[in-house]
Amino acid sequence: MITRFAPSPTGPLHLGHAYSAILAHDMARAAGGQFLLRIEDIDQTRARPAWETQIYDDLRWLGLTWDGPVWRQSDRMDSYYRVIDDLWQRGHLYICTCTRRHIQAALSAPQEGANVGPDGLIYPGTCKPRRNHLASAEIRDAVLRFDLDTLTDDDMSFKNNGLRIDVTLDDLRRDVGDFVIGRKDSGTSYHLSVVLDDAAQGVTDVVRGADLADATQIHVALQRLLGLPTPRYHHHDLIRDENGKRLAKRDDAKAIAKFRDEGATPADIRRMVGLCP
Ligand code: GLU
Repeated sequence: MITRFAPSPTGPLHLGHAYSAILAHDMARAAGGQFLLRIEDIDQTRARPAWETQIYDDLRWLGLTWDGPVWRQSDRMDSYYRVIDDLWQRGHLYICTCTRRHIQAALSAPQEGANVGPDGLIYPGTCKPRRNHLASAEIRDAVLRFDLDTLTDDDMSFKNNGLRIDVTLDDLRRDVGDFVIGRKDSGTSYHLSVVLDDAAQGVTDVVRGADLADATQIHVALQRLLGLPTPRYHHHDLIRDENGKRLAKRDDAKAIAKFRDEGATPADIRRMVGLCP
């Protein structure tokens, strides 16, 4: 068994992160497997070395140890670009110049139906008919979208928390739409890099919060397309604040470091996320 914790160094780790990290760590240790740490820093406008340092510090304090060297996604951009290039050559991608406002306007047309998927508004396909016939000035601000109509595998089932989840191409069209695979600020996308890295690191079990459960169908579709194995998924409940709101990165109030400064022990953190110390 190989599990991983894959935080983005864009803010302090909070109780929700502690929950993911502890579950993934304990699961690997109980099975005599490996627990890996991967820093997901493709968004270089938000990633900060200081947050990365704090991640190591918080995990060590929690008593978690990881195996092998830490992978950093910003070191792996070439491998993401190679796959994007390949998908482009194979005709799976198209250039999209729509802004959020364009998408919103297109979706408010009565026949479109405004739906929200894992990445926000489900793209209505506005740029698809013109494919890649663009003025070069337009390309500068464009993103690359995956054309779901080029997928042929209709079985994208996977295991989540031990249950088989069946996903078909029609489900993807309805619930996700043509998702972004490359963007101008980061070059790649969360979906592509996470799928490539989980496969390259041999991850057998992905443990993460239920907020990412909807994105899993995208990941499984990419795994089928790229001929990569699909790990088992374990999406855990989200840790919420007193008002039932899920914790956000900027939510310093629930930062592990803050509890630590206030005298909490690692066992207290385990108790706070509902685990036995
Ligand atoms: N990097 C993501 C985050 O910090 C987690 C990705 C994953 O576990 O798949 O929210």
